[in-house]
Amino acid sequence: MAKTYQQIMDEARRLVPEVSPDEVQNRLGSAAPPVVLDVREKEEFRQGYVPGAMSLPRGFLEMRVEEAVPDKSQPIVAYCAGGTRSLLAGRILKELGYSDVRSMRGGFTAWKNKGLPITEDRQFTAEQQIRYSRHFLLPEVGEVGQAKLLDAKVLCIGAGGLGSPAAFYLAAAGVGTLGIVDMDVVDLSNLQRQILHTNDRIGMPKTESARLTLQALNPDVKVVEFRERLSSENAFRIFEQFDVIVNGCDNFPTRYLANDACVMLHKPLVDGAIWQFEGQATVSNPPAGPCYRCLFPEPPPPGSTPSCAEAGVLGVLPGLVGCVQALEAIKLILGQGTPLLGRMMHFDTLSGEVRLLRLRRDPKCVVCGEHPTVTQLIDYEMFCGLGGEGPAQASGPAGVSSAA
Ligand SMILES: [Zn+2]
Repeated sequence: MAKTYQQIMDEARRLVPEVSPDEVQNRLGSAAPPVVLDVREKEEFRQGYVPGAMSLPRGFLEMRVEEAVPDKSQPIVAYCAGGTRSLLAGRILKELGYSDVRSMRGGFTAWKNKGLPITEDRQFTAEQQIRYSRHFLLPEVGEVGQAKLLDAKVLCIGAGGLGSPAAFYLAAAGVGTLGIVDMDVVDLSNLQRQILHTNDRIGMPKTESARLTLQALNPDVKVVEFRERLSSENAFRIFEQFDVIVNGCDNFPTRYLANDACVMLHKPLVDGAIWQFEGQATVSNPPAGPCYRCLFPEPPPPGSTPSCAEAGVLGVLPGLVGCVQALEAIKLILGQGTPLLGRMMHFDTLSGEVRLLRLRRDPKCVVCGEHPTVTQLIDYEMFCGLGGEGPAQASGPAGVSSAA
């Protein structure tokens, strides 16, 4: 015999005991808290929810709950907006074999009216929900991770070969604030690899060209331009405003300056270097892993290494390395995966070999060691004499070993 709505609800009430919001709050603070299941629609959940609640809309309940809560003896408290949908959801959970299911009386409305704590996630616009939909599908990113990316501030040192792909992908991923430090203007010879810039922008400041490209790609991104040469005078002031520093300026004075400033400010540094057909990328954030000076305490003597302007660089190579840098920055922001701390990814594009080198921290390091001797920033260009992109020192330092 067909049942009426009233009969179904009465049946649900008999099967699923109701608990008050205060009881739920007490149980959440206990040693064995229940799983709190929010069965409202995603849009309702976004407006605010019980802290720690799991979102599982009523329409997906049967399909997804066994994956979300595999242990059927685990106590569950379901809630909706007013207490009706959660009773019906509770009835289904009982049918699926969950033994301890309750429904929160009065739902989220009653919880809120009691003045109990709520969590509100970032509200995404309709456009953002589509733009980042592929991120939302990844449990490691999701809406929480996307909110972290939008709140993150990443500084790219240089809008050149490495900075271009790095900033491009960081903007596409929705990193909310991108700082760009570069004092150069776009030159025709840059366009073979510096993909942020275009032919019609020759002569334009690179930071401006970068801003135009990045904001055309993603209007969510705020681009902060620093049309200045990074130096001991401005490094702290600029770095302090950012969470992660991506070094795309492949020359020794900047590499040492960025390293020292990041060590002193305790900021993670994502470093990249390119040389003809070879490139490498690593992350440093002592004391987790070494810094650059752990491996190379001092810059090479002036004139001992040629720059890219003298030695050349394959156009696509900085794309590879810059993308690894963007990837590492995103991992750091999300707190997902294993960053390249104490490891260096090395590409030899001609042989097609990618190696992972293990880098060791030097407890006596001049900047990140126990008794540092480098305690203020140094401008090496005064006696280093290197301006453009150049090779990383790769001639067998003590701290580098091959790791398969
Ligand atoms: Zn060090």
